[in-house]
Amino acid sequence: MSSTLFTNGYIVTVDAERHVLPGGWIRVEGDSIAAIGSADEQPAAADRTLDMRGMVVMPGLINGHNHFWGSLFKNTGDGLLLEDWLDEVTLPLKSALRVEDLRTASYLGALEQIRTGTTTSLNHLNNENDDETIQAIIEPVLEIGVRQLVAKELRDAPNPAFSAKYPPHHYPRTRDEELALAESLVLRWNGAEGRVHMGLAIETGAMWLLHNSTSDEVILGGVELAQRHNLRITNHCSAGSSWLSIKEFRDVTGGGDVDYLVRLGALVSNWVLIHCLWLTDREIAHVARAGISAITNPVSNAYSADGIAPLRRMFDAGINVGLGTDGTYVNCSPDMVEQMKFAALIQNVTHLDPAFMSAERVIEMATINSAKALGLDHLIGSLEVGKRADIVAFDLDRTHITVPNRPVSALVFSAHGTDVDTVMVNGRLLLADGDLVEAFDEKALRAEARARAAEVIERAGIGHRVAEHWRR
Ligand SMILES: [Zn+2]
Repeated sequence: MSSTLFTNGYIVTVDAERHVLPGGWIRVEGDSIAAIGSADEQPAAADRTLDMRGMVVMPGLINGHNHFWGSLFKNTGDGLLLEDWLDEVTLPLKSALRVEDLRTASYLGALEQIRTGTTTSLNHLNNENDDETIQAIIEPVLEIGVRQLVAKELRDAPNPAFSAKYPPHHYPRTRDEELALAESLVLRWNGAEGRVHMGLAIETGAMWLLHNSTSDEVILGGVELAQRHNLRITNHCSAGSSWLSIKEFRDVTGGGDVDYLVRLGALVSNWVLIHCLWLTDREIAHVARAGISAITNPVSNAYSADGIAPLRRMFDAGINVGLGTDGTYVNCSPDMVEQMKFAALIQNVTHLDPAFMSAERVIEMATINSAKALGLDHLIGSLEVGKRADIVAFDLDRTHITVPNRPVSALVFSAHGTDVDTVMVNGRLLLADGDLVEAFDEKALRAEARARAAEVIERAGIGHRVAEHWRR
């Protein structure tokens, strides 16, 4: 079993006591952390030693909400509310995707992740997948070396239709076939190389119900499947414009997204609720009582001008909240350091309270809180003996930082994800001195991604979204 020693780092453990060890060390054996020590303790020698002087060494960042295929379509949604973006950009793009586009996007998403210090992401699938496309999505994750929770979507057309606004969508499989396919894919891929974790994505939110893409029966069938296999279910919840889809949903159902799940008897702890912008106090109490986690994506919410998540009320209720980017087609950046900074600033200015969201709190959200939300905190999210060696180091010896007076604050408010120097996932060193450790032609991948994106945009008929050099 090979061993690696990280020495001389400014180690931010995010363990239960939140130990910080300036000049400390971490010893990795195989895929796990074997020992952690402070500067005055002497580590045993290892096969490989990495000098982390001038760096913050911390648990790999965990992106609690992403759609990897969005990595090809940044900047296509500028200036659109979420409702318009879904109809005018996302649904046409989704229909135009081919298997190899998904594969290329998955490579790009995994590389973006490594190069910004993220070791794990939740890939919330929202295209319609089968055996072949799931393979195309997961194989690059395995090859590049990152960790991912892959949430397989479940779709079903409600009968009768939930809303007359959109025509009924014909899905290629019956509800039973859809559930059986999801189960077979979960069994096939769950645990692959110790880094692929399977889950489900079931949309029960206002916009998706109004689009007739979910039925009560598939929600209940998915909950049963998730409980049987102990899976997380990710779900865009209470996201959209308060005066459009959110209002329309309330007018039709008499309540919000969480109220709907409560009435169905489907509000179980397996859910990971994404966004949660417009939850009432009653809904927040339901979520807290069920022990459900949420993921907040403040840059995405601001990009579409949807709203600002009620984090103070959610924290007060005791809800665990992690952090995510959302698909980079509705954020434009995969950088989790940027998300931490924005999360802190947008909340603090909303509450006129500069102490509400500290650097420490957003680091917790991007590490241990996201790990809990994904049901993976027994493996990742903190640097502790016995946990998997998902470790990143950010180099603070950069001109734009130079004097990191408080390193945790410097990381959140001065650094960028691209300041990452070292990335290890599951004990495998992926990035060292800022370079990929294993041979991979990134330049060719970037060229392919550009070509494929242009073709999909053309096939989707949304060329006008990117044609103007300067928009007035
Ligand atoms: Zn999303």
